[in-house]
Amino acid sequence: MKLFRSVALLAATLATIAPDAALASDNRPAKATFGAMTLGSSQESQPIGFYAKGCQAGAVQLPYDGPNWQVMRLERNRRWGQPQMISFIQQFSRDAAARDGWPGLLIGDISQPRGGPMVNGHASHQIGLDADIWLSPMPRQRLTGQQREQLSAVSMLKKGEYLTIDNRNWSEGQARLIMRAASYPQVQRVFVNPAIKKKLCETWTGDRSFMGKVRPIGGHDSHFHVRLYCPPGVANCKAQPEIQPGDGCGKDLAAWFAPRPARKPTSPMKPPPKPRVMTVGDLPPACQSVLASSSKRGDDNMGLPYAPLASADSSVGTPITTLAAYQEKLTPQPSAATAAMPADPAAVATAADPAPQSPAAATWVSLPDKVPLPRQRPGH
Ligand SMILES: [Zn+2]
Repeated sequence: MKLFRSVALLAATLATIAPDAALASDNRPAKATFGAMTLGSSQESQPIGFYAKGCQAGAVQLPYDGPNWQVMRLERNRRWGQPQMISFIQQFSRDAAARDGWPGLLIGDISQPRGGPMVNGHASHQIGLDADIWLSPMPRQRLTGQQREQLSAVSMLKKGEYLTIDNRNWSEGQARLIMRAASYPQVQRVFVNPAIKKKLCETWTGDRSFMGKVRPIGGHDSHFHVRLYCPPGVANCKAQPEIQPGDGCGKDLAAWFAPRPARKPTSPMKPPPKPRVMTVGDLPPACQSVLASSSKRGDDNMGLPYAPLASADSSVGTPITTLAAYQEKLTPQPSAATAAMPADPAAVATAADPAPQSPAAATWVSLPDKVPLPRQRPGH
């Protein structure tokens, strides 16, 4: 009986994978192929594969402006995610503004229109369930397209010192923002620089039950990275193992700060082996149908006041040298741009919400008068 069941199971498994196996020899380079897709697929939404090896079907575009967010680096076209991620960002931005006084989120990369590996920037972000959020608060005014390309996120680390927080840039605001992100049940991990994790471990006095979700990782000193769980019931989405219980403030974190043994110098004569180029066939077979699918409807600009890049020059005025120039007063107030947003609740779930009226909003945000603009864009 047991044997029969196994044979039947094997036969059923073979029947499901056999048609896909024939497609597995798709030798197109995965990065270039997915990078060339400009619109999402007209399929049912679904994350496919693993965060660092997969793609996404039926992705949704995050509008580039919302009441409490602005998307940066629009030219990259990486504001596509699964509906769960898009609504998470909307909810998170609203909660952070209303409950923590954070004026708004500057959103970095989510995923490409059909997910997949990227030509530059990330190992993960492939299935529409990862998003990067800047640690710099959103300016009150709407940024032009050019500013969204050129402004850089401000690092929370001291320049030239090993994993040390720069208290001129770090404030309780960033701490609240990260811990707020970790508090949502659909969030599995929040990646931050080890120095930031250490700071939170040492200073956070609120609810610590979500501290374990905040994971130390290299980089991530000017933005943090939110990863959602695979949505329940999506068999194609490969879950990441649960994190260990505990706050993660112990020895794993300490390892980042331990003196490292000197590395043996590698021989300059021996170049490292060239990594094999990942092909579409290396990804889950369903990603080939994602690539083959017809495109979704075009951009959802929704008439928002976004200055196109071509005309950005004339509208910029004084060149931007510091993010701080935009801070003025950080008390969240509806800008003219926000007020002019369409009140179509289906288009932007949060558009009709009243502006947050938190009296304590501006009291804790301590930004320096001058924030230097780093030359390097935030790596990831
Ligand atoms: Zn990221």
